[in-house]
Formats: sequence, C-alpha cells, structure tokens
Amino acid sequence: MQDPVSSRSDSPLNYQELYLRTPVMMHSIDSSGRLVTVSDFWLEVLGYHREEVIGRLLIDFFTESSRIFAKEIALPRFFRLGKVKEVPYQMVKKNGEVLDVLVSASSECSADGAVCYSMAGIVDVTQRKKAEEEAQRLAHFDSLTGQPNRYLLMDRLEHALAQADREGHKVGVMFVDLDRFKWVNDTLGHAAGDTLLKMVAARLQGCVRKADTVARFGGDEFVVLLYGFDDEDEPSSFARRFLDALNEPIILQGIELSNSASIGIALYPLDGRDAGSLLSNADAAMYRAKELGRNTYKFFSPWMNARVTEKLGMENRLRNALKAGELFLEYQPQLDLRNCRVTGFEALVRWRDPQEGLIPPARFIPIAEETGLIYPLGEWILRSACEQARAWQRSGYQSVRIAVNVSPKQLQRYDFIEMVETILAETGLPADCLEIEMTESMIMANIQEAITTLTDLKVRHIHLAIDDFGTGHSSLVYLKHFPFDRVKIAKEFIRAIPDDADDMAIVHAILVMANILKLDVIAEGVEKRSQLDFLRGRHCNDMQGFYFSPPMSAGEMTGFLRQGGSGNRICPYNSLLPLAVH
Ligand code: C2E
Ligand code: MG
Ligand code: MG
Repeated sequence: MQDPVSSRSDSPLNYQELYLRTPVMMHSIDSSGRLVTVSDFWLEVLGYHREEVIGRLLIDFFTESSRIFAKEIALPRFFRLGKVKEVPYQMVKKNGEVLDVLVSASSECSADGAVCYSMAGIVDVTQRKKAEEEAQRLAHFDSLTGQPNRYLLMDRLEHALAQADREGHKVGVMFVDLDRFKWVNDTLGHAAGDTLLKMVAARLQGCVRKADTVARFGGDEFVVLLYGFDDEDEPSSFARRFLDALNEPIILQGIELSNSASIGIALYPLDGRDAGSLLSNADAAMYRAKELGRNTYKFFSPWMNARVTEKLGMENRLRNALKAGELFLEYQPQLDLRNCRVTGFEALVRWRDPQEGLIPPARFIPIAEETGLIYPLGEWILRSACEQARAWQRSGYQSVRIAVNVSPKQLQRYDFIEMVETILAETGLPADCLEIEMTESMIMANIQEAITTLTDLKVRHIHLAIDDFGTGHSSLVYLKHFPFDRVKIAKEFIRAIPDDADDMAIVHAILVMANILKLDVIAEGVEKRSQLDFLRGRHCNDMQGFYFSPPMSAGEMTGFLRQGGSGNRICPYNSLLPLAVH
C-alpha cells in the first residue's frame, strides 16, 4: 500500500505514526475480521491495551445486537462492496459502557478481487445520540413526570384506534383529574405540587400494563390510554385500582395527605370514533364524576355533553342571578321531640329563575363550586341566614340556632374563618347559634386541612355537624377525632325505614355508636310517623323532615313559629306530645 504521508520529505511523521497518533479511532482488520492495527485513540476510548485487542475479532468489541447485525448484514455487504460509510454500531468499552459509533471503512483487495485487508475510521456519536434522544424525549415527554405528553398521547391514541379497527378490540381513554391539587400547590407550595404530580404519575404507571400509556395532559390532568381489551369490566377495575393507589397517603413536607381523583372514561368505538371526541367525552365524564362528589369514576354517556353546554349557560345565568336577587333562602325547622320544641332551622338556598322557575340547589351548587361563584354565593347565604336567625331571636325565639351548609371549596379558602367571624360580628348572632354543616366526604378528602379549620371554628364556639352521614365511607369512630357536635343521619337511610332491614340496622348502629362517642344525632328526611317512632324508640329525638315541615320562606316560617306561641313550643306538633318521654 502506498503511504501518502511518509512519502513527503517535509513531514516529521510517517504514515504508521500518523495512523497511531491521530486523535481518531481507527482500526484495520484482515479478511477474517481480526484486528491487525488500532490507533492509540481507539485504545484510549475503549480502555484497552494494544496486546489485549490485536488478533481478536472486531465483533468481539460489539454489543450482542451489533454483532448479529455485523455478521448477518453489514460485513457481508462490506466484503461485497469493498467500502461502507457511517454504519451505526454499538461498541462495548472494557468497563462495560456502551458506545454509539459510526464506522466508515474501505478495503484493499487481492488480485482476485477478494477483500484481504480493510481500514476503518470510527466516530463516537454517543453524546450526539443522547442529545438527539433528549430532544426527542422533551418533544414527547413531560419534563416533570417523565410521562408521555399530550402530543405523544395523541399520536399513540391514533395508532391505538387504527390497530383496534384492524383487530376488533376496544380502546379506553380515561381522564384523571386530581381533586385537591390546587390546594396543595397554593398551601404547600409549588415544590410540593411537583412532588405530588410525580408521585401520582408513578402510582398511575404502577397500575397499568406495559402496553398502556399514562400521559400528563397538562396541570393536574393525566390521561390513561388502555390498549385493546375485550372485557367490558376492565376499565372499571383499572379506575378502581387508580383510586385505591391514589388514596394511599402521601407525605408532603411532613404532612400526611390522602389524595383522590375524579376519573372519566370514554370507550372506543362506543363513545367516539376519533381521538378528539374520545378525549372530550372522557373529559365530560370526568366532570360528572367531580359533580358526584369526587374520588369516583364515571363512564361517558351522551347526555353529559348536553350537560356541559347547559353548565356553561348556567354559569352565566347564576352570575347574573346573584346580582339580580333571584336567589333566596328557605328554612326547615329542626325539632327536639322530647319537648316538642324547635331548636333550630336549616337554611337551604333556592334560585327562582324568571324563565325556568325554581331550580334546586343540587343543580346549581356544583356549578357554583366549579366556577368559584360559591364564594360570593356562600357568603351571601351565611350572611342572610345569620341575619334571619338574629331577627327571630329578637322577636323572642332566643335559643334558635341556624344551620348553614358549606361546601368544601368554601371551607378550604384561606379567609373562611375571617368571613364567618365578620358576619357574626356584623349580624350580632352569637357564635353558638350558628351550626355549620359539612359532608363527611369533604372532611375525609382533606383530613389535615379539615382538622385545622374545624378546630378554628370550634374554639369560636360555632357548632359543627356532619351532614348526610352514612353516604360516604368514613366511620364514626374516625370522625370522633374531629370536633363535631353532631351527626345528621342521611335521609337516604331514613327513607328506607320501616321497610329495609339493612338500612334500619345501619341507622341503629349509627345511633348506638354516636351514643358511645357522646355525639348528638339528628335524623333528616323524616317523612312518616313510622320513621319517627323507629327513631324515638332508639333514643333519637332530634329530627327534621317533611313530617314536621317542608323548607319554607322566612315569612312563612315566622307565621309558623307564631302559631306555636312563645318559648318555641310548636302547636302543629302538639299531637306528638303524648309521645314525649317527660
Ligand atoms: P342537605 O343539606 O342534606 O339538605 C337536606 C335536603 O333534604 C334539602 O334539599 C331538603 O329540602 C330536603 N329535605 C328536607 N326534608 C326532607 C324530607 O322529609 N324528605 C326528603 N326527601 N327530602 C327532604 P335541598 O334543599 O334540595 O338541598 C339539597 C342539597 O343541596 C342539600 O342537602 C345541600 O347539600 C345542598 N344545599 C342546599 N342549600 C345549600 C346552601 O345554602 N349551601 C350549600 N353549600 N349547599 C346547599
Ligand atoms: Mg344540610
Ligand atoms: Mg343532609
């Protein structure tokens, strides 16, 4: 072989030296693929001594997959063509590290044209490849959680739909929205919020199969893509698994938090033929799950879309209604049957829309909660109820207590206590004449936060009641750790009396347990004499329900109170007096 360098008289290096010392990885192999020469830089990068490599097969320094590729494809091609350019291989360093390289080689042939000797230059592209992969990852993966982002999700969803069409499978799209991310972010800070998102991503990922995708869709929203399944129950069992995994407490900044999410599920092909409509339908189902009290999942059904549209319209109307004075309160009396006295009232909000008529709170409170309208609305309700209670007190019903429902959002707001204090001061209602009702799910979802707020209310002598008790999944023993004064047994259980033995057993158990724990109990939704008798027979004497009175306007209720004469004794219930124990 002609040496291009050593032939030049002014060069201090000969070809051999140049080959060896140039900072480029070079090697030469013979016709059997064994290394004949390697450059110093080749040895330096791969970490070998010359005597360890000369005479060995080049492919011994390749990874397993590169070895197969070299033997079966690249080397036969090289020996056929006599040269190759930038063939990608992976080489293994002596310390085991893998190197991505591009190999370009040319050959010397014998007289018969067979390759007898070849020389190759190698470029280490490990860093470049890593950078490319990183760029790819950043474009397709969420940088915080490392999960696929919405672009990759859309891509995978499109593929999954095409594949499902070919194979006749179903695909599930699940929209997962954390129930209290905002609170964590606002209260514990963004670092805690980030940690929470990472933990949630890991937990979701831990629940799915390898082929499924858990993508971060944005904010605290994740989308899980369940690939081809046949069993209809599969998405629900996944959703349940997600909820269980998320409910496992998480410690953030030393605080143990129980998390929950609302999940909406849309199925292909049933709920949408393309990626966009599946996602938006899963989203609508997720909203429905939130409305149903969170920590739950819901399958999409077509009326949900109608609801989304309705909700948007309703939000605007509600905003105006608040200004236009279309909202008002009704009051439902609460009685102590031991002496047939009205002990208090529950304030219940109503909305009379000029076109639609009366709209029940179950339809507009969730919208108010979602849109933040609950803050001005809740404040207005509390103020009006306290003013009314104070007015009744002034006209002689001194011991009347007013029960006001508050929603979780209100309770979570930083200035809730301050707002209550201001209203009590301005209306002049004594703090112990106000009872705040909240549901158990609200407390269980935010234990730490709830304890703080409830204690703050309690030290101000405000009464606290758990509303709709029994419909959540908490135990009374657990709730005993909170400073509640009383438990309202949910009307759903009372309704079943006297026909449903199971529900009656539940009511009985609640009463026994509350008695042991020294908690007062009131039964709501009492409609029949048989229910009243059942309750009284079990020493439950505080009741509320249509049997005594429906919710009424303040004016009607004032008239009603007057009929009862002084001292809150109510005439309409005199018929109950013989029942009185004393
Ligand atoms: P809740 O706090 O459990 O209120 C009791 C509900 O049961 C009221 O329905 C009441 O009208 C109804 N009710 C009373 N007696 C009976 C009875 O004997 N039988 C039956 N079947 N029902 C009876 P309403 O007024 O439609 O309120 C529904 C829910 O809306 C309330 O449940 C409460 O969670 C919420 N809500 C009502 N007013 C407010 C409010 O001012 N603020 C907030 N945040 N939520 C409210
Ligand atoms: Mg209530
Ligand atoms: Mg209730």
